[in-house]
Amino acid sequence: MTPTQPAKPNIVTPATPADATVTGRLAMVRGAIAATCAAAGRDSGAVTLVAVSKTHPAEAVEEALANGQRVFGENRVQEAKGKFPELKGRFPDLELHLIGPLQTNKVKDAVALFDVIQTLDRPKLAEALAEEMAKSGRRPRCLIEVNTGEEPQKAGIAPAEVESFLADCRDRLGLPVTGLMCIPPVDEEPAMHFALLSDMARRLGLAEVSMGMSGDYETAIRFGATHVRVGTAIFGSRPYPAA
Ligand SMILES: *Cc1c(COP(=O)(O)O)cnc(C)c1O
Repeated sequence: MTPTQPAKPNIVTPATPADATVTGRLAMVRGAIAATCAAAGRDSGAVTLVAVSKTHPAEAVEEALANGQRVFGENRVQEAKGKFPELKGRFPDLELHLIGPLQTNKVKDAVALFDVIQTLDRPKLAEALAEEMAKSGRRPRCLIEVNTGEEPQKAGIAPAEVESFLADCRDRLGLPVTGLMCIPPVDEEPAMHFALLSDMARRLGLAEVSMGMSGDYETAIRFGATHVRVGTAIFGSRPYPAA
């Protein structure tokens, strides 16, 4: 490995067949979060595990629920609509996060179903969300997605524009913006992106910082993540591509 290559992903590998269950893997991820928090001098209650259940059936979500998991992430409105209304009926404290791109024609459904929208990534979506929140009376918290790598093909607000976008969302549109999220470029060391996002949230007085996935959530916690979005390490590999 050359020094410029990113660190090896730290995806938890099941040690025994018994660990190759949602129950076993969830326990391992929770253990890793607690250990990382302890080593970083952070309270483990300061980090929320968002279990990313996209492409996995409701039965997998049920197994996580049986183990006390209550916060879940999905990346498609349509798929979430098929799985979660019934589960939310049975588990009123279930909190559902949208972590995938949101088209404006899906805003009505998204506001009705999700408790947190992590992918507020453009002015047009901010307008549509404000309008739907006013209409429905439901106000899911919103996180601004920041394109920390300034990748042209990727969604998100450029770092230099986050402050003015936040002001517009809050002051003009009245959106409940509570934090920032990012998805670092796949071919770069994520640490610098995590540091940038954390720093930006602190400067803007935003309490929630969503960053880190199966391969890098421990790094994200060291850099101040309040929410880590972990799919594969809990539910196993996805049966089909998610997006
Ligand atoms: C799928 C997804 C995740 C989870 O990825 P894993 O590598 O399976 O943990 C996290 N964040 C976003 C935005 C995703 O789309």
